[in-house]
Amino acid sequence: MFRSIATKLYSPRSDNIHLIKNMVIRTSSSSNAQPKTDNKKMEAKVDLDRLDKIKIPESHSFVQNLFAGRANTEFFLPYPQVLNNEEISFLDMIVDPVSKMWEDKWDELVKLEDTETVPEEVMQMMRDMGSFGIQVPVEYGGMGCNNTQYARLAEVAGRYDLGIGIVQGAHQSIGYKGLVLFGTPEQKAKYLPDLATGTKMAAFALTEPSAGSDASSIKTRAVLSEDGKHYILNGSKLYISNGGFADFFTVFAKTEIKNEKGEIKDKVTAFWVPRGPGLTNGPNMKKMGIKFSNTTEIWFDNVKIPVENIIGEVGEGFKVAMKILNNGRYGMICALSGTMQKAIEMASTYANTRTQFGNKLSSFTAIQEKIGRMTLAHFVTQSHAYMISGVIDKGMADFQLEAAVGKIVASDSAWHVCDEALQIFGGMGYIKETGIEKMLRDTRIFRIFEGANEILRLFIALTGLQYAGGHLREIQKAMKNPTANLGLIFMEASKRLKRTAGFDAPDMTEKIHPSLHPEAQILSKNIILFSSAVEHLLIKYNKQIVMEQMLLLRLANSVIDIYTMLILLSRVTLSLNKNIPSAEYESQLCKLFVSEANMRVNQNLSALRSPAILKNDELIRNIAVQIFENQGIGHQSPLHSNESS
Ligand SMILES: Cc1cc2nc3c(=O)[nH]c(=O)nc-3n(C[C@H](O)[C@H](O)[C@H](O)COP(=O)(O)OP(=O)(O)OC[C@H]3O[C@@H](n4cnc5c(N)ncnc54)[C@H](O)[C@@H]3O)c2cc1C
Repeated sequence: MFRSIATKLYSPRSDNIHLIKNMVIRTSSSSNAQPKTDNKKMEAKVDLDRLDKIKIPESHSFVQNLFAGRANTEFFLPYPQVLNNEEISFLDMIVDPVSKMWEDKWDELVKLEDTETVPEEVMQMMRDMGSFGIQVPVEYGGMGCNNTQYARLAEVAGRYDLGIGIVQGAHQSIGYKGLVLFGTPEQKAKYLPDLATGTKMAAFALTEPSAGSDASSIKTRAVLSEDGKHYILNGSKLYISNGGFADFFTVFAKTEIKNEKGEIKDKVTAFWVPRGPGLTNGPNMKKMGIKFSNTTEIWFDNVKIPVENIIGEVGEGFKVAMKILNNGRYGMICALSGTMQKAIEMASTYANTRTQFGNKLSSFTAIQEKIGRMTLAHFVTQSHAYMISGVIDKGMADFQLEAAVGKIVASDSAWHVCDEALQIFGGMGYIKETGIEKMLRDTRIFRIFEGANEILRLFIALTGLQYAGGHLREIQKAMKNPTANLGLIFMEASKRLKRTAGFDAPDMTEKIHPSLHPEAQILSKNIILFSSAVEHLLIKYNKQIVMEQMLLLRLANSVIDIYTMLILLSRVTLSLNKNIPSAEYESQLCKLFVSEANMRVNQNLSALRSPAILKNDELIRNIAVQIFENQGIGHQSPLHSNESS
C-alpha cells in the first residue's frame, strides 16, 4: 500500500496530477493565442487563473481537506442527528430489554470465559433478538437498522462482552457485509435471510500467514475452470474469527486477469465460499482475550466455487475488502465506547467505597485525575462513534479517513481506560472475579486487528499527503522557473504571509456555540499550523517522506487531535443549543480536550522541524538498528563493567 502511495505522491499517473496537467495544457494553449508582446504580463495573468483552477478533487472528508489547508465541515457541523422520534422510540424499545438481558448474564459470563464458546442459550437469545441481522433490509428478514441504530446496539453489546461482540461483528460487520454492499439481487435473496436470523453464520477471510498488514500480498489463488463455470481455490487463511463454525466465508484470492493491453496480471477477487468439500479449519486458537470468540486457521484444498459466487467484480477484490473494513470500523468504535462506560462505572463505584489512609479513594486527587481522564477518553470515543455513523447515514461516501481516526482513538482509549480502571481497583483488579482484568485483555486486540493502529496512522498521513501533493507539486515546479510563474509565486507568497500572520485561518466560529468561540479559534489556528507543516514536509522530503515514518506518525497524531477538536465542538454546540441537562458538563470536557490537544498539536508539529528532535529520532533509530543486529539489548549489565577495565 505504502509503495503505491509513494509513487502516487508525485507520479504523473496520480489522478490529481492528471487533473492538474490537463488544466495546464488547456490554459497554456489559450495563452499561445495571445500576441507575443504581452507574453510576460499574460504569463502572470494565466498563472493566476491556473492557480485558481488547480482544484484538488472535491472531497467531503474533513480530515483529507485538512491536508490541503481547508476546513470542510459540511457533514460535521452541526453534529448529525439522523434519527427521528419514531426511530428513537424503536431503538429504545430494543435497547432496554437487550441491556437487561446482558446485565443479568454478566456475572455468569465472566465465569464461563474459559469455556471459550458462547453458550448455545446465549446464541439463541441473540438469534431471538435479531442480533445477527441488524442492518439487513427487512425484506430479507433483518431489522433494517441504519448505521446510527446499529451503533447504539453495538455500544450495548460492547458494554458486556467484547468476545461475543466479535462473534456478531465477524458475522455481520465483515462476514457477510460484502453481500450487503456488493451482492447481486440473486445472491442477497439466496443467502441473506438465513444469515440475518443467525441460522447460518459467516466469516471474513483475508489474513494469511505471510499477509497481515500487507493484505495485498496474499497467496491464496483461485483458477478459472476450462469451461468457465467455476473457480478452483487453493491456499490458507489465518486468525479467522468464527472460522470454526461459519457456514460461509468471504474469501479473498489472487486470480489471473487480462488487462486492456492483453497482459495477464494477478489481481485479488472476492468470493462467497460455502463450507463444503476441500474446506477445513484448525482448532480454536488459544488467545489472551475475547475468549468467547472463535479464531481458527482455514485451508482450501481444490475448493470448487461457482462463478456466480464472485462478490463484486473479478479483480476488484481488494477494493471490496477495504470497503467492507471501512464500513465495519465504526461498529468497533461504538462497542468500545460501551466497554469504557462500564469500566468507568465500576472503577468510580469502587473508588467511592474503598477506604485507605482514612479516606475514600475518590477523595484523592491522583484518583480524581484518573477518573477525569477516563471520562474524557470515553466522551471523545462516543463522540467519534455517533459522528461517523451519523455522517454515513447522511450520505457521506468518502469517510475512510474519519473511520480510521475513530478506530485508532477508540482502541487506544479503551486500552487506557481499562488499564486505569484496573489500577484503581489495585490488587482486586488483578483478580479474575472482578471482571476488570478480562476487560483489559479483551480490549488489547482492537489496536491490532482490522488495521493495526500504526498502519492506520501511516495510511491517514500518506493519503492526506497524496491529496495535498498535487497542489504543491505545481508550486514547486513554478519555483524552478520564477520569471515565468511570477503570478503563481506572488499569490503563494502572499498566502504564506497571511498564514504566518494568522489572517488566512478558516473561520470556525460560525456554527459553534458562542461560549466555545475561544476553542473554535484554537481549532482554526491548528488547521493553519497543520497545513503549513504539510507543505514543509512535502517540500523538504518530496516522495522520500514515505520513508519518514516517525514524522508521519506525528502528522497523523496532529490530525487526529484536530479532527477530534471539531467533533467535540460540534457535539457540545448541539448540547448547548438544545439546552440538554449535561450541556455544561460536556462543555468542560470539550474545553479540557481542546486545551490539551492544542498543546499536543503544537508539540507534534514543531517536532517536525526541530533539529534537536530530528537528531533524537536518528539516535533512536540507530539504537534500534544495533538491537536488531544483536537480536537483543546491546548494553551490558553494570555489574560487569569492571571486566572491561
Ligand atoms: C483474535 C484475532 C481475530 C482476527 N480476526 C480476523 C478475521 O476475522 N479475518 C481476517 O482476515 N483477519 C483477522 N485477524 C487478523 C488481523 O487482522 C491481523 O492480525 C492484523 O491485520 C495484523 O496483521 P499481522 O498480525 O500479520 O501483523 P503484521 O502485519 O505482521 O504487523 C506486526 C506489527 O508491525 C507493524 N507493521 C507492519 N507493517 C508495518 C509498516 N509498513 N510500517 C510500520 N509498522 C508496520 C504493525 O502495525 C504491527 O504492530 C484476526 C487476528 C486476531 C489476533
